Amino acid sequence: MSTLTTVLLSHLRRKELTRAEFRHYAHLLANCMAQQAAEYLKPTTQSIQTPLASTQGTSFTQPIILVPILRSGLVLLPAFIEYFPNAGVGCVGLRRDEKTAIASLYYKNIPKLSGNEQIIMLDPMIATGGSGSAALDIIIKMGIKQEQIIFVGVIAAQEGIDVIKKAFPKITLIVAAIDKELSPKKFIIPGLGDFGDRYFGTE
Ligand code: URA
Repeated sequence: MSTLTTVLLSHLRRKELTRAEFRHYAHLLANCMAQQAAEYLKPTTQSIQTPLASTQGTSFTQPIILVPILRSGLVLLPAFIEYFPNAGVGCVGLRRDEKTAIASLYYKNIPKLSGNEQIIMLDPMIATGGSGSAALDIIIKMGIKQEQIIFVGVIAAQEGIDVIKKAFPKITLIVAAIDKELSPKKFIIPGLGDFGDRYFGTE
């Protein structure tokens, strides 16, 4: 991870941040994560014309579908749309039971897929890996290969990474930090608390 990413994440973790500050650092960090994700996309070269001459240019031509896991994944979405303005967006809503931490699906709206798309799944906090695995299952059942999926998080617990990588060994998983453990209520420790609550003001 870049030094800038880790500096921004250190800010975001601080408990004393106001809502406005939390949002500010979350947006900057989302920007960094989008740039990191771009490193894993396949660029194509094509001839382009500058005002003075023709030259070789680079672009991303493979169709991209961004899949935010509701609700916190929405926070990463605008930065990714900035960099990939033609991307489709498919939303997956998974609710984590407060007691069992088991994820259940309450919303799904994904564009029709041809099987050729690059999927970028967005979920800032990977705790048990339950929601991520459920969302990955949905996408794979729609005909997408694991190799076509980049999963972008901000903080992951090692346990969550292990769960996802065991079930989906061929996906690309990018996070800004791996934290060591989960609390009995399945919060990431040290983590940053409830990402969605801090961002949306529902704490
Ligand atoms: N989701 C969060 O927002 N925080 C955690 O620590 C775990 C899951």
